[in-house]
This record gives sequence, structure tokens and C-alpha cells, in this order.
Amino acid sequence: MTTPKAPQTIAAANGVASDTAFGAVTSPLHLSTTYLFEGFDREGRYAYSRMANPTRDQLADTLAKLEGGAGAVVTASGMAAVDLVLSQVDPGRLIVAPHDCYGGTYRLLAARAARGQFEIAFVDQSDPAALAQALARAPALVLIETPSNPLMRVVDIVVLAGLAKAAGAKVAVDNTFLSPALQRPISLGADYVIHSTTKYLNGHSDVVGGAVIAADPADVEALAAWANMTGVTGAPFDAYMILRGVRTLFPRIERQQQNAAAVAAFLEGHAAVRAVHYPGLASHPGHQIAKAQQAGFGAMLSFDLAGGVDAVRSFVEAVGVFTLAESLGGVESLVAHPATMTHVGMGAEARAVAGIGDGLLRLSVGLESEADLLADLQQALAAST
Ligand code: PLP
Repeated sequence: MTTPKAPQTIAAANGVASDTAFGAVTSPLHLSTTYLFEGFDREGRYAYSRMANPTRDQLADTLAKLEGGAGAVVTASGMAAVDLVLSQVDPGRLIVAPHDCYGGTYRLLAARAARGQFEIAFVDQSDPAALAQALARAPALVLIETPSNPLMRVVDIVVLAGLAKAAGAKVAVDNTFLSPALQRPISLGADYVIHSTTKYLNGHSDVVGGAVIAADPADVEALAAWANMTGVTGAPFDAYMILRGVRTLFPRIERQQQNAAAVAAFLEGHAAVRAVHYPGLASHPGHQIAKAQQAGFGAMLSFDLAGGVDAVRSFVEAVGVFTLAESLGGVESLVAHPATMTHVGMGAEARAVAGIGDGLLRLSVGLESEADLLADLQQALAAST
């Protein structure tokens, strides 16, 4: 009899020692694009790697177990995962998305809507009136990003999923910022969980990948069929690397969020900083919700520099431990300026509506020593004033 496994055990060891060919302990990398038929008209378990691949399946199985889903489809990028979910929406139907979602998601939603593939309503999901108005239009899908990128706004998944379901919509949660180590949206009512595995799941800033996990086996089947038809499935080598990253997910993110909490507390007390957006701070408007629905506050945060864009330029030129770069979730600390980097594709008007100012900086806090991180921020803030 197999006993249910703790998520830490699943992450570290799901599929270990299951190789029947040679008894390999680590999950093997299967690069073959094609697999032999067992005989005339007798397809084996695998036939062609775009459809299914043993290495990719091992990652999918691990992610599905970690998220508590019926199955997962591993895609070539996080954007491919977002688009795969969008492919399940019938033409002309409405999608409700956060007005402050990741810039690439915003751009894709706006571009597909402009082509007439569906309608889009970007709303502040923490505004009950705006949300009720959008849900009254009978959406097919409600997309949630919590905490949001880059403002770290938190919404209550249970409440939002309940309202969306009552309106007849499916619910997709982009869980990239927290990973299943800190948040499990299916247990809170989501139908789909989206990941850019490029981030915490891989964790080493050396693979681009994505995944969609679904609660319902019929949705898993539909997603897998569409991923095969459109060819967005991820490469086996990438799946191998991402699974390797997943092995250390828990200790990485647990340590990184300790550093992030120290960074947030330091920034909150600094005169050059106008506001700090970190759900772990008692001052954060989503603190209580985050405490209830998350297993930790994560390692992402953003903050507004009082000196605006001039201060931003001096700050990013002064940092030495933090690196000015896009992306997040790796073991190294990064700083990004959303207005000119991750969220440039949104356009200035949409950024202003979402509250993403030119003085906003986003930090992905890594595994370096806390003292080095704080010292770096201190000297960069001094240089910015
Ligand atoms: N979703 C979120 C929340 C992201 O931050 C990103 C990328 O930054 C994506 C999706 C897209 O992922 P990828 O860059 O792997 O395509």
C-alpha cells in the first residue's frame, strides 16, 4: 500500500528509481523524438515526442501531484501555458483578467482580443463593484494572478473562484510567483493552475518552460490534445532540467523568502522608499488573505522610490549583489524596472491604470547572504538620493 506523500517528498523524489530499463535512480532523459510500434497497428505507450515523452511526463506527473491536480501539460514557456488555457475559450466569449497582470499576459490577451478571438475585460479584482460588473457579463474564464506581478496585490482565491463559478466561468490561477510550495490554487477552487516553470520550479535561470495543471481529468485531456495539435509541448531536455530544479524547490523558496522578509523590513524603514509591496508586511492590504491562503509570503517584492525615475537610474547602476535583469525565481537576486522592462508591452496608459509607476522597482530575492543583500541595497539607496 502506498501512503499519501508530503509535498516535500513528492518534489524531492517523485519518480526516483522507477526506471525499468537500467534501474537508474534519477529520472532518465529521453531525447528520442519517435518510438517503435509494437507491431502492425499496435502503438506502444509512446509514439512521438510532440504528443508524449517519458521525461516530460515525469515532470507533468510531479507537478500535478504537487498542485493536487488530475494531470498536467508541460509547455515550452509560461506564455505557451497561458495561451493553452486561452485556447479552451470559445470564440466571442469573455475573459476577465487582472488589470495588473504580468505584462506578457496582458499583451497576449489584448492582442488575441484585438483579433476578435474573444472579449477581454481587465479589472481590478480587488474592487467588488468592478468585479461584479464584469462577472455579470457571463465570462467563460476568470484569470487570477495572486500575488500579482509586479505590485504584489493579493486576492482571495476562494471568494473569487466562488463568484466566478456562480457566474458560470472557469477559473485559472497563475501560480508562478509562489509555486505549489507556498500556494495550491486547486484546493481553493481553481480549475487550472498556470506556471512559468522558468521561475521558481526550475529555479536556476537556465531554462524557459511552462505548465498547466487541471483539476478535472477531462480538462487535462483537452489541454493535452490542444498542446499536441498546436505543438506547444516542452522539450524533453528542458523537462529534465526543470524536474532537477523541482527537487530542491522547498528548501530554495523557504530560504529565499526569509531573505525577502528581511529585505522588505529593511526597505520599509528607509527614507528613500515611498512604499513597499510585500504581502508578508503587516502594512500590506492583502496581508491577512495571504496569511490564510499561502503557506509563506514568497520571495518577490516591489517598492516605489521616492525620487522617481532619476532615483531608479542611480539605484540600478549602483547595485552589485542584485543584478539588473528580467525574470525571477532563480537562486540569484535580481532587480527589474517594470515600466521599461517586464511591463513595457502594456503601454504607459495601462500601466498608469494598474498603478505601475516609473519609480517602481521589483526584486526577486535569491539565496545570497542576508547581510550582503541588505548592504547592497543600503549603498544603492544612498547612491540614489
Ligand atoms: N506568468 C507570470 C506571472 C510571469 O511572471 C511570466 C514571466 O515573467 C510568465 C507568466 C511568462 O512566462 P515565460 O517567460 O516562461 O513565457
